[in-house]
Amino acid sequence: MGFPLLKCVKCGGEAVVNLKPYGLVLCNEHFTEFYEKKVKEFIIKNKLIKPKEKVSVAVSGGKDSLACLIALDNLSNELNFQLTAYHINLEIGKFSKQSQKTVREATKKLDVPLEITDLKKETGFTLPELIKINRRPPCSVCGTVKRYLMNKVPRELGNEKLATGHNLDDILEFTVKNFLNNNFFWLSKLKPLLPSVNSKVLTKIKPLFERTEKENAVYVLSKGFNLPHLTCPFSRSSEWKEIIAKIEEWKPGFKLRFIKSFQKINFPVEKLNYKRCRICGELSSSEICSFCRVTRKQTGNLQELKNRK
Ligand code: SF4
Ligand code: ZN
Ligand code: ZN
Repeated sequence: MGFPLLKCVKCGGEAVVNLKPYGLVLCNEHFTEFYEKKVKEFIIKNKLIKPKEKVSVAVSGGKDSLACLIALDNLSNELNFQLTAYHINLEIGKFSKQSQKTVREATKKLDVPLEITDLKKETGFTLPELIKINRRPPCSVCGTVKRYLMNKVPRELGNEKLATGHNLDDILEFTVKNFLNNNFFWLSKLKPLLPSVNSKVLTKIKPLFERTEKENAVYVLSKGFNLPHLTCPFSRSSEWKEIIAKIEEWKPGFKLRFIKSFQKINFPVEKLNYKRCRICGELSSSEICSFCRVTRKQTGNLQELKNRK
């Protein structure tokens, strides 16, 4: 970290970040102040958290969810809400071990209560095993499992909201891809606050909606936390992210301006006919929910896995 030739515009100290869209070059201390102010203003403007609410933050152990945990912990007293953390151990070898260690250390340092679900204990399978038996893209299987557990477990623990660390870069990539594919259903759900539609559904909030990946990484380091060095073996580089990054290079501020304008469009919300899953009782658009299908709860899962080997 550090830009030896650049000085903080506020104090003249050594700069750690150059925020071109804002025309700001800042040191550790002034960047932290800038970042926390932006997150606080965003939460207040979008009414993401009310006083006395119980908020669970989903922490994978990556830079974005760590930044979300640290920023919310920093605001919990001032905005008067209760914060807990939730982690899913996907059991992807060394990557998951490191992620869990990072999450345990960070929550301990901040003194935030942590709940962990072990996927193998919960379903009988690790994520790589589920990917193998489902023959679907890894991130699609992972997404199904994570969405289900992140909605169910923190809700059953009495939380009213689930905060996730979605950042501006991910949101923009998701927006462009879904727009080009006419997936307006998913775009209608891409909001800083997605209110609950049913007592079985937690309200979801995205406090880092306007913060970039780079800002999140610098924030985690500025606050004295470590960034994990392993990446998920199933992750793939994204062409769209590279294209968007190039545009941002030519036109600093493009990402933020694009997403702010895009949010003003109201996509028609498709009314799904929700029922209760016949197996687990959670809300589902079909007889058996996607989690129970993916984890083979209806077919005697272990036998199926043995047959595939
Ligand atoms: Fe899951 Fe894909 Fe992320 Fe890996 S890269 S943790 S498989 S969503
Ligand atoms: Zn400074
Ligand atoms: Zn189910």
